[in-house]
Amino acid sequence: MKCNKESLHFDNLKEEIIIEISQEKANILSIDIYGIPPKHPDSHLGYWNFKIPDNKKAEILIKVNFNQIGFNSIKPFCNDAILYYKDFWINKDVKFDDKLKFSIVLWDNDKLIEIKEFQIVLNHSNQSRLQDALKKIKHLDECEAYINHFCVDKISLPQLLVIESTSRCNLKCPMCPRTINKSPTGKFDDLDEEILYNLENAIKNCNSVCLSWMGEPLVNKRLEHIIEKIKAINKEVVITITSNGILLSEDRISNLIKSGLDSINFSIDSNNIELYNKMRVGGDLEKVKNNIKNLNSIKTNQLSSKPRTNIAFVGGEENINQMPEIVNMANELGIKSISLALIDDFTLTSDYVDRVTFSEELKKKGHEAFFNAEKIAKEKGIDLNFEMPIQFFNFLDINRWGYEAEKILFNNDLNDEEIKSLHLHKGCHIPWVHSFIAHNGDVHPCCVSPRVLGNLKEKTFEEIWNGLKYKEFRKRLKSYNPNEECRRCKRAIWNRIETVENLRDWMKVGGYETHGLSWGTMQIDNTGRQYRFICKKATLFLRNTYKPYISLMLGNESLNIVSAKIAVNNKIIGQVVIPFGWKTVYLSLPDNKKNKFGKSLYSESSADLKNNKHSDMPQTDSAPTFENEVNILKLDIILNSNKHLLKINNVKLLTEKEVSGIKKFSANLSNTKVSLILSLLYAHLFYLISFPKKLYKKIRSILSLLKTR
Ligand code: SF4
Repeated sequence: MKCNKESLHFDNLKEEIIIEISQEKANILSIDIYGIPPKHPDSHLGYWNFKIPDNKKAEILIKVNFNQIGFNSIKPFCNDAILYYKDFWINKDVKFDDKLKFSIVLWDNDKLIEIKEFQIVLNHSNQSRLQDALKKIKHLDECEAYINHFCVDKISLPQLLVIESTSRCNLKCPMCPRTINKSPTGKFDDLDEEILYNLENAIKNCNSVCLSWMGEPLVNKRLEHIIEKIKAINKEVVITITSNGILLSEDRISNLIKSGLDSINFSIDSNNIELYNKMRVGGDLEKVKNNIKNLNSIKTNQLSSKPRTNIAFVGGEENINQMPEIVNMANELGIKSISLALIDDFTLTSDYVDRVTFSEELKKKGHEAFFNAEKIAKEKGIDLNFEMPIQFFNFLDINRWGYEAEKILFNNDLNDEEIKSLHLHKGCHIPWVHSFIAHNGDVHPCCVSPRVLGNLKEKTFEEIWNGLKYKEFRKRLKSYNPNEECRRCKRAIWNRIETVENLRDWMKVGGYETHGLSWGTMQIDNTGRQYRFICKKATLFLRNTYKPYISLMLGNESLNIVSAKIAVNNKIIGQVVIPFGWKTVYLSLPDNKKNKFGKSLYSESSADLKNNKHSDMPQTDSAPTFENEVNILKLDIILNSNKHLLKINNVKLLTEKEVSGIKKFSANLSNTKVSLILSLLYAHLFYLISFPKKLYKKIRSILSLLKTR
């Protein structure tokens, strides 16, 4: 790497640097600025990462302008460079005097190729101007709209209910918390079915129910009745169990098919009998395999596609190299999907620490085993899913695009000061979208936490879900002082909280984005388009640049028409209807005068926030002040049916000029009733036109297939 300057002066806080890159492998350029002596995080002012465009390797111009720090952030500019996952951060509490260390680093993914360092000496006036600019930086967690969204807003009922059908088990697996009396759900018993009355509304409104938590569901002889009761409340809900498969007799199989069970995850961690016996104490691998074969043939005889089957593999010290064998076993048993997780991911107690620490040697083994497993899975057409992909890939040192994260975000030993100065909170949404009900009716925030937030024998689920205890739990989870179990939880890594200045007036999924709850992981369709699924109600935040229109690129992959309301700062601004495929819709923001949306929202929620202060919450000197609230837009997409999913690719604020000439028709869709009727007509017309075409194509393909035979 060649640089056009030997020293940097930052006269007037500006500097332009030209870098010449010759290294073919360099794909990321990062800039790091520290105070002297460089100390993390105290004197780390910030970093910026850029993806180096393939065709621009020869020369890159970086423009740094510290003057803009309070308004647009410090934004070194790299020609056409694309910022990637967690691309930068700024520490406004940085401690520095008159010196800064400025480094330009070239990377080949996570391998450092070359580093060039400069020491900058600031004069007195530059130093204080930089300090002032840093003080003005606001992070999103200082905005009420953002905090309320996570902590105070009324939350829609959960998408997933985990109901513990029993906490009894027929095995004594050494890695299970039950075995050492550390079960978060307490004593061992079957589900008290009385509690289903107080769960009725939640069952009606959820998408799926899992009937396993701490025990083996087949131990409960009334499992089929419980499934029937739940299906009677909501026939469309997807019911799943996770089972060791040992008690799956032919009678049980027939009864489970009759009850409407949708899927079974078989917990199998080894295809080696000796190892299996060591891990599943009291189990019998051959019996499990036979039971799965019986399940397949009974399903075929009864012409039933359900229950679908999946293998749930949890890798640890003893069995990490079993991944390829598990894929072979799935193939032999006709199972088309495997979920992979690492034992770290669900460690419930510190008693396991020694067992679950991934040594370098173990990582290497896991790394190799995974690539072999993936190769076999591709050949055999078996889907590999990851319970927590970001943890899985990072713990095994696998570079997988879209799941990169810095190691510090995995560090659960950070102290309060570090968490605060790095602007982190736990990236966990479980208590907003899932709920865990123990056999005795105790409601827990997640599968890890032994904390009870209410009991269904005393209150309805809705009372507990939006009750004070749940709210306080959520509030602390998104603070710098999370609940103890969240602080050490490995299911969630830390999230860096964005600066408001770096919010944009557009969001492209997979690129720049700030979104809130109810978003699925990023996916790519076969045309290369990135999208996320959204469900029920999804939220994102945009910077309000007073542009009058909003455009959303939405997709629907089902044959049902999906419709949704769009709300900006809690006010409905229109309806969208999406038939099969992708569609861009335009909505106007008629009241989008300066600060109008912002103020109405902030004044309401300010009081709520103050009233809800709790002694457990961090009351620090950096508690947010709302007088000079930054104007951000909170955009909610609220699906009109709980049963459907919608895909989202991007959202943009647009000017008058950008909209005129695109689609005047849909740009005026803010009149909700008219827009809904017109859009429904349009969608039905779409099906009327496209259906005969599809049918014709299908018939042609069947005919040509018959001909070739
Ligand atoms: S971060 Fe907290 S709420 Fe989330 S899974 Fe972990 S313990 Fe549960």
